[in-house]
Amino acid sequence: MIGVFGGTFDPVHYGHLRTALDVQEALGIRRIHFVPLKEAVHRDQPGTPAELRCALVQAAVADQPGFVMDDRELHRHGPSWSYYTLESFRREYAVEPLAFIMGGDAFNGFLSWHRPLEILDLAHIVVMQRPDAKAPHGELKVLLEERLTAEPGDLHASSAGRIFLQPVTQLDISATGIRERIAIGRSARFLVPERVLAIIDHLGLYQTD
Ligand code: ATP
Repeated sequence: MIGVFGGTFDPVHYGHLRTALDVQEALGIRRIHFVPLKEAVHRDQPGTPAELRCALVQAAVADQPGFVMDDRELHRHGPSWSYYTLESFRREYAVEPLAFIMGGDAFNGFLSWHRPLEILDLAHIVVMQRPDAKAPHGELKVLLEERLTAEPGDLHASSAGRIFLQPVTQLDISATGIRERIAIGRSARFLVPERVLAIIDHLGLYQTD
């Protein structure tokens, strides 16, 4: 099984990395692709150029076997719809199961994404529980009840279509919090890997003038 973990990663932090490792180990995922988005479609545009966010992710995952930075969204024109990203993974990996990994906050907006049900034709969804995440309700709750499995073997047994809720280390770290902290002159040390911090410091990222 292959994991696909998309995000803004502005910057990547331990809330992404530790939880991705939890998911990888719990579900037996052989490789997780970290896919920084080029253009946001459901939120404000990131302030940091996509190439730089990719460089931060590259620095973060370089030493971790089974984690890779994947810049495929940068080579595509237009907004970074996950559907097309997953289509490209599906072409690459044929029938191997794909796990599309996201936090509970991201999953709560899932039905407003581009072609959400077709996303489930391409991949399973693994939802990582995040601190303070709200439980799904309405149509999303119905979808969850239809597709939910508590059995990791079900994810390995088919290419796509199931939803799995994965408990992860609860780390109340957000990229917004890190940017705000740096903007007021505080340190992001121990919230991001040292190599990521070194790039942030070297380039003066997130500092206000
Ligand atoms: P921002 O604060 O800029 O919105 P973020 O910290 O939420 O950023 P993103 O790059 O937007 O990070 O997140 C990518 C994915 O990682 C999303 O699915 C999000 O839910 C998940 N995620 C981010 N931080 C955590 C965390 N601390 N624990 C679990 N999942 C997380």
